[in-house]
Amino acid sequence: MPATIIDGKAFAAKVRAQVADHVTRLKDAHGITPGLAVVLVGEDPASQVYVRSKGKQTVEVGMKSVEHKLDAETSEADLLAVIDQLNNDPEIHGILVQLPLPKHLDEDLVINSIAPEKDVDGFHISNVGLLGTGQKSMVPCTPLGCLMMLRDHHGSISGMDAVVIGRSNIVGKPMAQLLLGDSCTVTIAHSRTKDLAEVVRRADIVVAAVGRPQMVPGDWIKPGATVIDVGINRLDAPERGEGKTRLVGDVDYDSCAAVAGAITPVPGGVGPMTIACLLANTVTACCRANGLDEPDGLTA
Ligand code: NDP
Repeated sequence: MPATIIDGKAFAAKVRAQVADHVTRLKDAHGITPGLAVVLVGEDPASQVYVRSKGKQTVEVGMKSVEHKLDAETSEADLLAVIDQLNNDPEIHGILVQLPLPKHLDEDLVINSIAPEKDVDGFHISNVGLLGTGQKSMVPCTPLGCLMMLRDHHGSISGMDAVVIGRSNIVGKPMAQLLLGDSCTVTIAHSRTKDLAEVVRRADIVVAAVGRPQMVPGDWIKPGATVIDVGINRLDAPERGEGKTRLVGDVDYDSCAAVAGAITPVPGGVGPMTIACLLANTVTACCRANGLDEPDGLTA
């Protein structure tokens, strides 16, 4: 039987609709408009595309969107001053500093200068600690999106064997914490893992967050397993015309889909969920800041 395709694009639209609904209620019942500020330093073209997309979707769900575009030579002191101003702005409930930052800026220092309750990326050391100890935190958007899709597909994932390939601070590690929080038995694999194929073959859930195009072949997948492909890799696609490219994930989609029970495509899987979860985190942060009930199902 062919794998069920987990449609991240459709799911993200549902999450955005739920966020928009909650924003309307916050405005109507409490006169509060959630606000998200995005800080971009430099002119990295990919970052510019992400920031534009984030701003557009923020406005579409009825929230206030603020963008601070600083030039690539901005000093650390000037960037910290912008963050300090946003930390103290009562109309801003979420702050996101677009990564990567130019080399002269200390990423850890900058992220840890964001007020933890406004850290909608969930990268602040306080949020990392809260997540690791099972307390209420801001949860990193990409792993949160993966968790939402898994819960939606399976209902409960309690007791399942999960393998996360990749141990980065933004995807692999928080993903593993979230799976553990939902009572999976979790293995984290990485570049030094021995016999990765055997490790992956044991998994009921495989989350691939590696950054290597189509690295996971179908014969690593246990029949019926759920495959969540976080990877976004651009390959040359001369068959589409000169200079054209196409996006592929970290799993070999065709061979994995032939064996898996369910799989996320690339594009149209995890990617769209990431911005939807950013919006969800902003509305959650706004509710917490105002002592109001959080929307159901939009956080871990
Ligand atoms: P990083 O480069 O930070 O981490 C990659 C991880 O993969 C590392 O832990 C590394 O291990 C591991 N790894 C590398 N090679 C191998 C290998 N041969 N076998 C096993 N493990 C390996 O990447 P990110 O976590 O930031 O991103 C991963 C992917 O997800 C990328 O394609 C990125 O573009 C994508 N991404 C997608 C998002 C979305 O919205 N859909 C958001 C964020 C990322 P080690 O630690 O040992 O070096």
